[in-house]
Amino acid sequence: MSARNVLVINCGSSSLKFSLQCEAHSRALLSGLGERLGSAEASLRWWRGEAIRQQRALPGADHGALLRQLLPMVNEACGGRLHGVGHRVVHGGEQFTQSCRIDAEVITAIRATVPLAPLHNPANLLGIETALQVYPDLPHIAVFDTAFHQSLPEHAFRYALPDQLYREQGVRRYGFHGTSHRYVSRRAAQLCNLAVGDSCWLVAHLGNGSSTCAVVDGQSRDTSMGLTPLEGVVMGTRSGDVDPNLHGHLARALGWSLEDVERLLNHQSGLLGLSGLSNDMRTLEQARGEGHRAATLAIEVFCYRLAKSLAAMSCALPRLDGLVFTGGIGENSVLVRARTVAWLPLFGLAIDPQANALCVGGVTGAIHRPGTPRILVVPTNEEKQIALDTLALLD
Ligand code: AMP
Repeated sequence: MSARNVLVINCGSSSLKFSLQCEAHSRALLSGLGERLGSAEASLRWWRGEAIRQQRALPGADHGALLRQLLPMVNEACGGRLHGVGHRVVHGGEQFTQSCRIDAEVITAIRATVPLAPLHNPANLLGIETALQVYPDLPHIAVFDTAFHQSLPEHAFRYALPDQLYREQGVRRYGFHGTSHRYVSRRAAQLCNLAVGDSCWLVAHLGNGSSTCAVVDGQSRDTSMGLTPLEGVVMGTRSGDVDPNLHGHLARALGWSLEDVERLLNHQSGLLGLSGLSNDMRTLEQARGEGHRAATLAIEVFCYRLAKSLAAMSCALPRLDGLVFTGGIGENSVLVRARTVAWLPLFGLAIDPQANALCVGGVTGAIHRPGTPRILVVPTNEEKQIALDTLALLD
């Protein structure tokens, strides 16, 4: 049988990311992004292999129009042999513990989870319904960001709040970035010749959104994000953990509304808030090099809190086979990896500066000093994992 192809879709309210994955290749055959969909400025950018990079204005195009525009391009790139469509869905609540084939019942269940992810799940549903119209004869698979963390034990997923809030409102820790934590922890086991089912990892997924995870024998046992993707470590524009009384304090001291505080915590905080400069780690590293005090502090807070989170995650591990860095920052920032590990001397972790410097721009490798516990850099590939899940469900 020749290699099969899967179209992976990640749909936002006004954007749609796509990636055409072939099971025989590590790189996407075609990938791209539709932006400002539904507006006069709608546009499409795409990449074919490494060489071809193109852009086209699609004034007024909505998600459906974009997918129809893509049809011939997808067909050409995979020789008309498309076997399934994989959809990223942010929130699967407690219902979805793994990826599944989409039918009317699944769509209803995803809709029921909208109150838990009011910004993301409606957009993901829009992507599913649009793609079902454009590809009615193909199997469609949903892959949930939360599903990997459904293996958290109750003592890790419950908040110390009245039981009723959990029972009636689903207030608990769900965790996110599950597809990435799952993919890189499996890759780490493969790279070290360990069985996935008998290996223990701390994973730091560090991108614009960041989270940590304790993975034991291929299962998530704890993770830093909670009810929403705001909990946990410092992120690009998100604060991560703050004192839960902050809402009340700002309301009383400044007369701020709930919306004001939510905007602050989600969009004006994190690296951007601390530095007053940027949410982008590259910009902050450059500014730090030029002596920018606030950028330096933002990086220090980011690394210290990340180390604290990793130390906390270690409570869920019976032993440590390695620490894994991934995501745009984890895969590229030599500085963040070194500063973070420097806060964890009690774990015996130590970085080899030369190996650390080599693991950038998509390079996979070990960066620990010989004789100390493993530290790996493993580029994530959520699209590949979604395609793998899609193919597994077709078998
Ligand atoms: P992601 O959300 O995974 O795409 O990651 C985005 C983050 O990765 C941004 O903060 C970028 O600044 C950061 N990043 C990408 N490349 C580098 C780099 N070479 N050095 C430091 N940070 C980087």
